[in-house]
Parts: sequence; structure tokens; C-alpha cells
Amino acid sequence: MEKIKMTTPLVEMDGDEMTRILWQWIKDILITPYIDLKTEYYDLGLKHREETKDQVTIDSAEATKKYGVAVKCATITPNAARVEEYNLTEMWKSPNGTIRAALDGTVFRTPILVKGITPYIPTWTKPITIARHAYGDVYKNTEMRVSGGSKAELVVTDSDGKETRQLIHSFRGDGVVQGLHNLDASISGFARACFNYALDLKQDLWFASKDTISKIYDHRFKDIFAEIYEAEFKAKFEAAGIEFFYTLIDDAVARVIRSNGGYIWACKNYDGDVMSDMVSTAYGSLAMMTSVLVSPTGVYEYEAAHGTVQRHYYKYLKGEETSTNSVATIFAWSGALRKRGELDSIPALCDFADKLEAATIGTIEDGIMTGDLYLLSKLDNKRKVDSKTFLEEINKRLAAKLQ
Ligand code: NAP
Ligand code: MG
Repeated sequence: MEKIKMTTPLVEMDGDEMTRILWQWIKDILITPYIDLKTEYYDLGLKHREETKDQVTIDSAEATKKYGVAVKCATITPNAARVEEYNLTEMWKSPNGTIRAALDGTVFRTPILVKGITPYIPTWTKPITIARHAYGDVYKNTEMRVSGGSKAELVVTDSDGKETRQLIHSFRGDGVVQGLHNLDASISGFARACFNYALDLKQDLWFASKDTISKIYDHRFKDIFAEIYEAEFKAKFEAAGIEFFYTLIDDAVARVIRSNGGYIWACKNYDGDVMSDMVSTAYGSLAMMTSVLVSPTGVYEYEAAHGTVQRHYYKYLKGEETSTNSVATIFAWSGALRKRGELDSIPALCDFADKLEAATIGTIEDGIMTGDLYLLSKLDNKRKVDSKTFLEEINKRLAAKLQ
């Protein structure tokens, strides 16, 4: 078979620990035998981030803006233990945070469903994709304890120095107070990323807030979504046969539980934090959760939602067998290759991505799986295999599909 040719490079962001091992194996076993792979390679492994003083992360984000599509391996976010382990000169920031800030992106997380693993909510037969607004609100708060007898006020000083004041509360007893903010530009970017991604997936978009109680703050979110939808997306949504649906957050939660899935649920920052853990747990496994960062201008960065699987890596280093799930990382590659295929009009690349995903799901549904899924699967013929055997089994099915 002739290898599939690419025209534009993918931005490849390599990472750390066990996922870095899987990264190389995925490329060797499942990608390069079939694709004349063109990538611009950035090594975001912690060692190289240290060597470049984290410049490599910034460069990789810039390259993503330039080319439009990136695929990223999981990376270590340094903490005190890592500073010692890697002899770091600085506690470098989370690469995901740096890339998200550079692209002003929104993260969409989607579970991968397979037969034999039933979600805790059995009616969820289709995936629910969560989009979390990643700016502001309680994550950038200012808060204080207040002693009884104090008066708390909200004071805004405009650019001419004019003050607007509002009483928050006159405290008779001790208490607490908190200030929050958000930005029209950030909310608009979030809304556009969500509308674009819904069109991409041809799925309905849900958005909810508490605008009945928060009549200015949350209402601003509601209004911005509505204005952008009317002005820029309504016609496109109608043509695609999909819907934008706004409701109150408590109503949304009730509807989500009763639903069959198959839509994108856009959440404010806190709602997304809480609900994404609930949704991913209900679907079974973090190792079966894909993640894509989408910028308001339509730049895409694909990755797995899980981390570097440190415990497995230490086993691997000792020469012990590991059974690490590579599915989410494979889907990061298939997602990126498909998007590159769409943008460059290379149908063979899109077809390859479809077949790679089908071969991966097929392997698990044939009963061959890694340890994490073995514990969850209800298949009678299930068999646990090591990390590499799993990839080789996928490859057998992929090769057959590509014949
Ligand atoms: P983790 O790597 O996601 O792993 C936590 C545990 O979940 C593992 O020990 C393993 O359980 C299970 N697990 C996760 N992914 C798995 C997979 N693919 N296959 C099988 N089991 C899997 O999270 P962590 O241990 O908290 O973090 C490790 C490092 O990853 C940290 O340095 C953190 O900064 C980084 N991290 C990076 C990203 C990212 O780049 N997107 C995200 C999160 C964390 P068992 O050990 O019980 O088998
Ligand atoms: Mg959380």
C-alpha cells in the first residue's frame, strides 16, 4: 500500500513519562506504516522545557497558531517534588495553561464509548461533550473575611476616576465577602469556540447559567451567547440541522440526567469544573476521555484528558510489564489527522482517522483491552493485555480495514 501523503505539517508536542513511551509506540505501530507523516516536532518533555526555559512551550503554541492543528502528549505540571526530581531551576507553569492562554481556547472533553462498558447512567448511549469556560469567575476571585460591624461595598472606578458604589452588605456579625469578574471578550471567545465546535461535530449546543438570580453577571453570558448566535451562527445551525438551546443551570442538570447524550454542554467555569468530573466518572474512565482545545478563530489542539500515568512509568523503568490504556492518545492523533485532512482536502487522511478509531474500538469490543478497562468491562471473553500488545492488536484490525 502506498503511504498517505500530507501537505501541511501537524504540530507535534511530545510529553512525559508513560504517555511519552506510548506516543512513540503509537507512531511506530499505527501511524508511520501508513502515513508519510509530516510534523513540526516540539519536545515538551520536562527535561527539554527546563533546557529551553520553557520557550519550547511558547514556540509550540505559536506554531499551532500558524498551522492550525496540533497533537499533544500528556506533560508533567511541575510541583515541589518534580522540581527536585528533574532538578528544575523554576517551577515551570502548566504547558496546557500556557497553550490555552496563547490560543485563548476552550477545552472540549468527550468520552469514547465502547460495548461492554456501561455508563453509570445507562440512558447515556451517546457521548456528552463538556466545554468549560476557562477564564474568570471564582477562579480569579478576591475574597476577605469581614468582622461584625463592617460594611462591604462594591466600588468601580472608571477611566475618568469616577466612582460607582453599591452596598454589598452591612455586617452585624462576622462573615465573608468575595469579588468576581469576567470579560465580554473572553465570554465571546468562549461562545464562538462552542458554536464552531457544534457545527464541526454537527451536534446541538446547550448552554446554561443562573440568570434569574444573577440578573447582570450571568445575564451577560446569556446575552452574549444569544447575540453571537443570532448574528453569526443561526443560519449555519439551521443549515446543519442543529440547535442552540439555553436554559437555567438547574434545569440543564435535570435534562442532562434524563437525556441520551449526543450534544455539547457549554458550562461556565465553575459548572464545567464540577460537571466534567461528574460526566467523565459516569462514563467510566479518564483513560477513555478525549480533549480538544479550540480557539475562537478555529485553531485545534488535540490531546488525552489524563496525565502522564507516572505509576506505570516507574514500573516500565524497572522493566516490569505495564497495561496502560492508549485509547485517548490514539484518538488525539486520529482527531488531529482528520482535522488536517479536512482543512487540506485529503479524504484519505480522514478515512484513515475513521478506520484507526474503528479498529481501536473494535479491539476492545473483541475483548482485548488494558487493565483499567478489564476491571470495568462486562464482556464474557475479555482478556487483559500489556500496553504494546494492545497496540499490535489494534494494528491487525487497522491493516485489515485499510486493505
Ligand atoms: P494520571 O496520569 O492521569 O494518572 C492517575 C491514575 O489514573 C493512574 O495512576 C492510573 O491508575 C489511572 N490512569 C490514568 N490514565 C491512565 C491510562 N491511560 N491507562 C491506565 N490507567 C490510567 O494523573 P496523575 O498521576 O495525577 O498525574 C501524573 C502527571 O500527569 C502529573 O505530573 C500531572 O501534572 C500530569 N498531568 C498532565 C495532564 C496533561 O498533560 N493534560 C493532565 C493531568 C495530569 P492506576 O495507577 O491505579 O493504574
Ligand atoms: Mg475539577
